[in-house]
Amino acid sequence: MSGEDPGTREPGAEAQELLCRLIRFNTVNPPGNERPAQEYLAGHLREAGLECELLGGEEQRPNLIARLRGAASSDGPRVCYLGHVDTVLAHPAEWTHDPWSGALADGCVWGRGALDMKSQVAAEVAAVCSLAREGWRPASGELLLVAVVDEETGGELGAHWLTTTHPEKVRCDMLINEGGGSVFEVAGRRCYGVCCAEKGIFRFAVRTHGVAGHASMPGMGENALLKMAPLLARLGERQPSYVLTEESRAFLRGIGEDPEDPQAAVARLREEDPRLAISFEPMLGVTFTPTRINASEKINVIPSRAELRVDCRVPPGLGETEVRAGIAEVLGRGAFEIEFTERVVGNGSPPETRLMGAIAEWIGEHDAGARAVPVILPGFTDSRHFREAFPDCVAYGFFPHRYQSLHETAPLIHAADERIDVRDLHLATKFYRNLAQRLLG
Ligand SMILES: [Zn+2]
Repeated sequence: MSGEDPGTREPGAEAQELLCRLIRFNTVNPPGNERPAQEYLAGHLREAGLECELLGGEEQRPNLIARLRGAASSDGPRVCYLGHVDTVLAHPAEWTHDPWSGALADGCVWGRGALDMKSQVAAEVAAVCSLAREGWRPASGELLLVAVVDEETGGELGAHWLTTTHPEKVRCDMLINEGGGSVFEVAGRRCYGVCCAEKGIFRFAVRTHGVAGHASMPGMGENALLKMAPLLARLGERQPSYVLTEESRAFLRGIGEDPEDPQAAVARLREEDPRLAISFEPMLGVTFTPTRINASEKINVIPSRAELRVDCRVPPGLGETEVRAGIAEVLGRGAFEIEFTERVVGNGSPPETRLMGAIAEWIGEHDAGARAVPVILPGFTDSRHFREAFPDCVAYGFFPHRYQSLHETAPLIHAADERIDVRDLHLATKFYRNLAQRLLG
């Protein structure tokens, strides 16, 4: 940190300074190269009185585990604040401010990672450090802060590595991670999404077959690519029918809709705010998005084989059975074959827990009339690895954004001009302080 004594600084200001500093470490993954950023954070946490360890599968890519023990640390719950310090790439020419500058302009901190998710890491670290410096310790249990590497390419060296190689070091009962917290409005009511589940991925290839021939005579052979046309058209017309889960029912109830009638709910959302319908409808079922197609290797050869790749996302807990039902529904039967190329079942945590209660209470106290609404992320985060390793762990994504709405943050993530409203950074720091005290006493 620059000169100023962290002990006298307001926690939100500390988070802001940490964020600017973190953005200046280039942690674009690949290659990640997160060590300097992790050492910087460890130094800051140690100074505040936390026990820190750097553990990794690769020298330049250690994970950071920081711990604040309670008086009776073996009794109470273990609460973990999780974040990742790697980012996706950025093209400086597309940005208003250099993506590794951490520039402060128009009330925002700008840079790659300002939303995903150096901001949350900075807020969590500032919250924990300020509590520790004030002398606060959990009455029982333990507060953990874990900053991992390698999230943006799947967590092989990060959350997956930690939870499988050193599970005893990161075992926890409640976990707060990325993936939720932006505010949105439904029927005049402000809602904060709490991400309690993530969809799985069942990508597949659709193949058609024909007979090769010379392309100068279109009637020759049997063109496998043309057999793809009706299949592509069907994929453009509709998605599989909704398949509701515990989490998506909780979401519908949360926005004041009847979970038995998702069609009506989506119709109302579309009417009120079509962007919300685009973001939220995927929670309700299996989705198919065709993204790649290829056929003949040669421009002058009629293809005997064509292949279409479909990115398919599946509600938590569901799998191949539901995907196959969706394929039968959308593509029908015909002369094509299906092969799965990736199969990952998504997981979730129950939407009604002590942790959800604590988040909801805090929201009520800080934004009168607003409510916490369980949401399902169409993508996935490191929470998946923790839920897999520790089946009883309740893992949610939550970083309160009150000033930047969901419509403002969503298009900035992984895009140019990523930035966070400084007021949200301060608010989140308050939240992480308060939540630790609420849960651990
Ligand atoms: Zn992220």
